[in-house]
Amino acid sequence: MINIENNLKIVRANLNALEQKYHRKPGSVTLLAVSKQQSFTKMKQAFLAGQRAFGESYLQEALEKIQLFQQEKINHEIEWHFIGGIQRNKTRQIAEHFAWVHSLDDAMIAKRLNEQRPTHAPRLSICIQVNISQEPTKSGVVFDEVFALAEYCYTLPQLHLRGLMAVPSLQHDFAKQRESFHTLFLLWQALREKGFALDTLSMGMSDDMEAAIAEGATIVRIGQAIFGERIK
Ligand SMILES: *Cc1c(COP(=O)(O)O)cnc(C)c1O
Repeated sequence: MINIENNLKIVRANLNALEQKYHRKPGSVTLLAVSKQQSFTKMKQAFLAGQRAFGESYLQEALEKIQLFQQEKINHEIEWHFIGGIQRNKTRQIAEHFAWVHSLDDAMIAKRLNEQRPTHAPRLSICIQVNISQEPTKSGVVFDEVFALAEYCYTLPQLHLRGLMAVPSLQHDFAKQRESFHTLFLLWQALREKGFALDTLSMGMSDDMEAAIAEGATIVRIGQAIFGERIK
């Protein structure tokens, strides 16, 4: 049987060791537990082991889990991150139930999230998803459009632009993984130099966490290394 508490311990220890190895400040990399297609039971185990930030990709599934955490009266302790593709008719529930969106790649979606974010809630934290591999089939904005979308987000009072996110195409070679992440890092730096106050680089998954931390990730999104294989 899979032991979530133990897996979390291993991932956190690994993360801390990589911060040291690459001269990152201790605690500068946040662990987002990606719980898409994982059971509520496993999530609850992660929660009991101290995990508070969870990433979900499918809205309906996420809403069901949020409801279960509400029933247990612990949902207010959880920070929900939406990391999946966003359909236009799903923005309201994302704006109402999540603290973060990592996968913004469209101005119309940004506009809707801004309008639909409840005014009593803190601003919705946003990362712009960049199509780092520049593949037409992948989601994310191409490099040339990142600046304009960032500027637009700055005009929306209920959104808080935090940084950039990417899912590079699958690479097993460590140097190539670093190369992709370095490209995102440079783009992030360029935006910061233009005056955007960005503090977040969301990059790195179970199989490329080391390369991402080496290149400056501030959030790693880890699923299967914590929860095991996904169901469905
Ligand atoms: C599924 C997913 C992850 C986690 O992937 P693992 O390989 O399970 O660590 C991270 N980011 C995004 C955007 C995902 O869809």
